[in-house]
Order: sequence, then C-alpha cells, then structure tokens
Amino acid sequence: MIPGNFEYHSASGVDEAVALLAEHGENGKLLAGGHSLLPMMKLRFAEPAHLIDLNGIEELRGIREDGDTLVIGAMTSENAVIASEVLQRRCPVLPEAARLIADPQVRNRGTIGGDALHGDPGNDHPAVLMALEAEFVVRSQKGERREPANGFYLGPYLTRLDDGDLVTAIRVPIPAPDHGYAYAKFKRKTGDYATAAACCLLEMEGDTCRKVRLTLTNVGPTPLRAEDAEELLTGQTIDAERIEQAAQAAMSICEPAEDLRGSPEYKTHMAGEMTRRALHTALERARGG
Ligand SMILES: Cc1cc2nc3c(=O)[nH]c(=O)nc-3n(C[C@H](O)[C@H](O)[C@H](O)COP(=O)(O)OP(=O)(O)OC[C@H]3O[C@@H](n4cnc5c(N)ncnc54)[C@H](O)[C@@H]3O)c2cc1C
Repeated sequence: MIPGNFEYHSASGVDEAVALLAEHGENGKLLAGGHSLLPMMKLRFAEPAHLIDLNGIEELRGIREDGDTLVIGAMTSENAVIASEVLQRRCPVLPEAARLIADPQVRNRGTIGGDALHGDPGNDHPAVLMALEAEFVVRSQKGERREPANGFYLGPYLTRLDDGDLVTAIRVPIPAPDHGYAYAKFKRKTGDYATAAACCLLEMEGDTCRKVRLTLTNVGPTPLRAEDAEELLTGQTIDAERIEQAAQAAMSICEPAEDLRGSPEYKTHMAGEMTRRALHTALERARGG
C-alpha cells in the first residue's frame, strides 16, 4: 500500500515544528516513530499533505527528575523507557508496561509520546499514564498548557489535542516510594495489542488501602478508569473478597468491540482477570514481595 503525496519537513527545534504546524493547520501531521501514523497513511486513513518530522529535535528526548515529578520527553523511545534507571527506581510500572508493547524493533523507534497521543484504545501507555495521574505538556502558537491524562481521551483516535498542538513532555508525579504497581496484559502472542489489560498503582497503610488507581486498556472506545473499583478498595483491607468485588466493578464499565481478539463477553471476562492479577501483584509488591 502506498500513501498519498505529502511534503516532508524535518524540524530542527520545537519552535520550528510549532510554526510549521500552525502554517499547515489540519493538513499538517507530526511524525514521531511512525509505527502508527505510517500504517494509517498507507491505508489512506490519514492523508496529511505535510509531515513534520520530530526526530531531529534532541530536546524532546530524555528522562529527568524535577522535584517530585518525572519529566519524560515525548520523543523518548520505548526502549529508552525500559532501560531508564530513574524510571526503574522511581516509577517501575512504566518500564513494565513498555516491555509488553509490540516487539523490540517497534520499541526501538516507537515513542512514548506517539503511543500516548495517537488515541488508539489498544495502546498501552494511556491507561498507565492515567493511573499515574500524568500530565501532557502541550505547546502551540498560543503558548504552553498542561492537559491531565485523565479526561484527555475522548473517543477512538480523539483526544484533547487540537490542530497546531505539539506535546513536548509528559510529567509524572513520582509515586510514593513504597507503592505497589502492576501492568497485567493479556495478548494472543508476542507483538500483539492487548485483548485486555489492567494497570494498578497501590499505596498501603499496614493492611489498609490508602490509595489505589485502576485503569483498563482496550476494553472500550478509550482507556478506562475504574473509579467504582477504586472506591470499593480505598480505606479497606484488601482481601480476596474485595479483589473480586473490584474485578466485578471493573468488568461492569467495559464496552469492548468484537474483533479477531474475541467477543465482548470474552474481553470483559479477561479485563476482570487482568484486574485481579494486577491487584494481587501490586499488593504483593506494596508489602515488599
Ligand atoms: C506490529 C506492531 C505492534 C504494536 N503493538 C503495540 C502494543 O502492543 N501496544 C502499544 O501500545 N502499541 C503497539 N504498537 C504501536 C506502537 O507502540 C507505536 O509506536 C505507537 O502507537 C506510536 O508511536 P510512534 O512514536 O510510532 O508515533 P507515530 O506513529 O509517529 O505517531 C502517532 C500519532 O501521534 C502523533 N504524535 C506523535 N508525537 C507527537 C507529539 N510530540 N505531539 C503531538 N502529537 C504527536 C502523530 O502525529 C500521530 O498522530 C504496535 C505497532 C506495531 C507496528
């Protein structure tokens, strides 16, 4: 399949990329790793007349601590997320989830920004960034603003970004040092998108749950936050019964579409199972296991 004609621009800095975006409006599209955008162009689902390549902008890559926040450049590759010593120490759920994305070739070029901003409900980072209460730093000709990951995803391939918006970085509040975490993903084979996946971030006070965040991947038109399940667990002792109640509450918000990965019933069932696994693992880790 061959994409439509387009003009290629290699931006050397953020200002230049933002100016090009403003100039070309809805005809301009940013290119990160290209692993989602180029297949869509080949299928003619996307036909941008101007492709603005961000790969030459070094300031968009890298991971650093800024006080109590981690700042991850939008162009940081999945492999760099996996290899990051800072993330492994401060926010291990991000490398854990990145390791489950696609295959080594895709992870070498695919970026955390491209994954999080594409709006594909099958992508793994959105649910993880929602659980982490991350924010996107957005630049446009109007200036800079921040968009919380919660509330960012409006529908399939639809986010709060407008034409002319470029995300420079993702800001992640550093989770409590003793937090438990897990990203549980069920997929048919290596390299596949999730049939269903669940992310859990958990803080315990003795046997009582102080705070929990539970989110789901690929079981609805957007990533889902299982707020009722979170409420059932917060302030409670987490035992098998509570975990089962939370799994049932998570399943009740699922609205997956039928496709080659299975029926809505099967995917909803797997979302419940991933919720149980994520909760068990996060609990074990919060207890130092
Ligand atoms: C075989 C295969 C298997 C895959 N499996 C998985 C999987 O299991 N899980 C998963 O999560 N993903 C999977 N993917 C998708 C992969 O992770 C992509 O790399 C990712 O979705 C897009 O990242 P990218 O850097 O390639 O972005 P691109 O494809 O270049 O861009 C994606 C979109 O984001 C926009 N964009 C990119 N950067 C910015 C920015 N800084 N500001 C604003 N908009 C921006 C682009 O304009 C475009 O609309 C798979 C891909 C392939 C090819």
